Amino acid sequence: MSRPIVAIVGRPNVGKSTLFNKIAGRRISIVEDKPGVTRDRIYAEGEWLNKYFTMIDTGGIEPASDDIIMSQMRRQAEIAIETGDVILFVVDGLEGITSTDKEVANMLRKANKEILLVVNKIDTPKTPDTIYEFYELGLGSPIVISAGQGLGLGDLLDEVVKHFPEDKDVEYNEDVIKVAVIGKPNVGKSSLINKILGEERVIVSDIPGTTRDAIDTYFTHGEDEYVFIDTAGMRKRKRINENIERYSVVRSLTAIERADVCIVVIDATEGISEQDTKIAGYAHDNGKAAIIAVNKWDLVEKETNTYLKFEEDMRRTLSFMSYAPIMFISAETGRRVNKLLDLIKVVSNNHSMRIPTGTLNDIIGEAVLMNQPPSDKGKRLKIYYGTQVGIKPPKFVIFINDKELMHFSYARYLENQIRQSFGFEGTPIQFEFREKG
Ligand code: GDP
Ligand code: GDP
Repeated sequence: MSRPIVAIVGRPNVGKSTLFNKIAGRRISIVEDKPGVTRDRIYAEGEWLNKYFTMIDTGGIEPASDDIIMSQMRRQAEIAIETGDVILFVVDGLEGITSTDKEVANMLRKANKEILLVVNKIDTPKTPDTIYEFYELGLGSPIVISAGQGLGLGDLLDEVVKHFPEDKDVEYNEDVIKVAVIGKPNVGKSSLINKILGEERVIVSDIPGTTRDAIDTYFTHGEDEYVFIDTAGMRKRKRINENIERYSVVRSLTAIERADVCIVVIDATEGISEQDTKIAGYAHDNGKAAIIAVNKWDLVEKETNTYLKFEEDMRRTLSFMSYAPIMFISAETGRRVNKLLDLIKVVSNNHSMRIPTGTLNDIIGEAVLMNQPPSDKGKRLKIYYGTQVGIKPPKFVIFINDKELMHFSYARYLENQIRQSFGFEGTPIQFEFREKG
């Protein structure tokens, strides 16, 4: 099920990032505690009354500098309209309405979207009369907040969740492997998808009607059923929208959330960039299975160690997802594209693998015998037993005597032992340590 997207738009300095951080700060997920995971302040998960959403600060995507504020604001608004289910248009309650605010309001009003007008920096509980001027923007009643003081945020979030769309997502059968092909513009995502779908023996059909105008492509290959998530614009050679580099990241995000397996496509002729790392980081943060596809391999001058050098580079930069297999492909010539399909199946199986409790505890017991748990001030860590509590990704709860004694390095050791025994290639695995008296 895909989470609704809340997009925040507004001029520089109205308090967008303050608001963003206040809402994002309420929730800390298990995965986020892991070291090495890329943080990104433009994107965060939010929760209110048990409703989960993804929040995007468009000001972080298209930072505005003074001379070009209006054009940047237009971009921000476009991104918000394209991607948001609910748009928060933030204005400055101390400064009042500016001409930029009016223009942005005009753009937003024309879009057929849920828009909430948020007047920030009202730092007193009593709403001042000046608030009435904001009705002029034609976006309905302003919602008054102070992001700085944390005032009015509950009321704001009440309104936000009220405007979430009904979940229109197509529910796929459990056996269908949901794949998102993600990456920067021009790395070859469309080429790869078209190559796979163009193959003999692949039977294709479109599945429209999913949320946010996403078009999924369903296909079968041998016995197996797959869906490429959000292939709108990818299957046609000509794009509807001009490609804004950062915008495509947002599109990737929603696809990632709906997928089981992410193919992170990287352009071999360019090597790995920060943008690639961020996109891969989203897949990891969301607990998805992942394969790194180094594309355009046909264009690379190959010498003896070219593979190894590339692989080393990837491993170093993507150290947080050492579980992800790396594959060198060419969407143009079709090289190893069939192998990639096989690999999708493998990592998808690993992503939903269940380990029987007995087998798991045999492995944990052995691991503990081989490498004694750490102790501190005469107290030794005791590991009682573990059990798998979830799949997609596999999640384990391990019962221990004292959480203070469970160091990161020992947790990493346990993870490695479990990976060595069961494989889990291509999937992150999560651990939760619980104390038991
Ligand atoms: P952004 O550029 O829209 O992301 O704005 P920021 O969140 O960076 O905030 C710009 C400035 O406004 C900072 O100096 C904030 O401390 C200040 N600010 C943000 N929210 C409030 C508020 O509710 N009240 C007041 N008085 N200042 C605020
Ligand atoms: P997208 O923006 O990620 O969907 O990228 P496209 O699929 O549109 O590809 C961008 C450009 O790279 C196009 O001109 C493709 O023909 C080219 N391209 C894609 N994959 C390959 C490849 O494996 N080898 C070569 N030589 N060119 C490729």
